[in-house]
Amino acid sequence: METTKQDESARVLVLGAGYGGLMAALRAADHATVTLVDPSSEFTERVRQHELAAGRATIGHPLAPLLRRKRIRHVPARATALDAHQRIVTTDSGEKLGYDRLVYALGSRTRGTGDGDGRVFTSETAAQLHKRLQDGPGRLVVVGGGATGIETAAELGEVTDWEVELVTAGQVGPSLSPKGRAHVREVLRALGVTLREGAAVTPADLDADAVVWNASLQPNTELATAAGITVGADGRITVDEHLRAVSHPDVYAAGDAAGAWTRDAGALRMACATALPVGTRAGRNAAADLTGDEPRPLRFRYQAQVLSLGRHDGLVQKVRRDDSPTDLVVTGRLAALAKEQVVRTTVRTLRLAAR
Ligand SMILES: Cc1cc2nc3c(=O)[nH]c(=O)nc-3n(C[C@H](O)[C@H](O)[C@H](O)COP(=O)(O)OP(=O)(O)OC[C@H]3O[C@@H](n4cnc5c(N)ncnc54)[C@H](O)[C@@H]3O)c2cc1C
Repeated sequence: METTKQDESARVLVLGAGYGGLMAALRAADHATVTLVDPSSEFTERVRQHELAAGRATIGHPLAPLLRRKRIRHVPARATALDAHQRIVTTDSGEKLGYDRLVYALGSRTRGTGDGDGRVFTSETAAQLHKRLQDGPGRLVVVGGGATGIETAAELGEVTDWEVELVTAGQVGPSLSPKGRAHVREVLRALGVTLREGAAVTPADLDADAVVWNASLQPNTELATAAGITVGADGRITVDEHLRAVSHPDVYAAGDAAGAWTRDAGALRMACATALPVGTRAGRNAAADLTGDEPRPLRFRYQAQVLSLGRHDGLVQKVRRDDSPTDLVVTGRLAALAKEQVVRTTVRTLRLAAR
């Protein structure tokens, strides 16, 4: 049976206030005393980073009102070391934070970005990219044919005077159905985005004034690895069905840093869509573990992939429970509206959990 009172002696420390970590903190706080470590005083809607590049004013929401009611302490610092034996996390402000259970949710970053090449931007440097685009027009190449590359190319193709090209090593939208992929190609073309498929490139190969590197994500699991926590070949923390690190029973993982899986869906991909349910379960289980309640296995199955294609078009790709695409797609303005609703719902879900 789950308890409903915060237990002062049950300390859950959550690293990272993204979708996974913030949700884990809010859920753990129903039963335990929670501390949340993140350098930012805002929750960042990372799924809108391409909108920031296109000129959206802000994608941040202050953390304080989200944490207040559940009495979660926010430590505005970066975690720099983890001692998994002593159960201590050290921050860049020198603070040492002890824990009974840890939720590791430090997210991910863009992999392989052509360091030192001033033309190269990523989702993480979207605000700087926006400034650069205002100096244009010029030639912009977006690299990466997955959802992030597609959304970025479409968004920028729609709002800038720049000549935009999307380059990808494979085909665009590899996880989509042929029908879905055809729609993406058609909308990109209509937005003036040139598409080059089957071209594996490095930033140095590109004749461009600016490059957006969206090739793939790398989990931020360096602190975990240094602490001896087992990570899989994909760099994510290896967890059991309760989101508990297989090598360290007092550590849970959530979001992009977790190699989460379910029997229905298999290995989950790095996504906001998975980070929220994984965060919920990791937070609840971390607290349950301390209060004597039964941890529960993660339950999750995919339903749809939802892409924005600029502000006026989109794609809802119906998928099977294991994320494989079906022939059913919804396109056009209706899909654009659906995408906006999905994105708003993530913030609404966090606000509801904060009550
Ligand atoms: C442009 C773009 C569009 C996307 N669109 C979609 C989409 O449409 N649908 C979808 O499902 N997914 C989408 N994604 C993927 C999604 O954003 C991520 O999978 C999701 O953000 C993962 O959540 P998270 O909580 O693991 O990590 P994040 O949201 O990245 O949060 C990690 C947090 O950890 C903090 N942190 C990092 N290092 C430290 C440290 N050392 N100490 C303390 N704190 C630290 C960061 O400040 C951050 O707050 C998109 C990603 C991008 C870049």
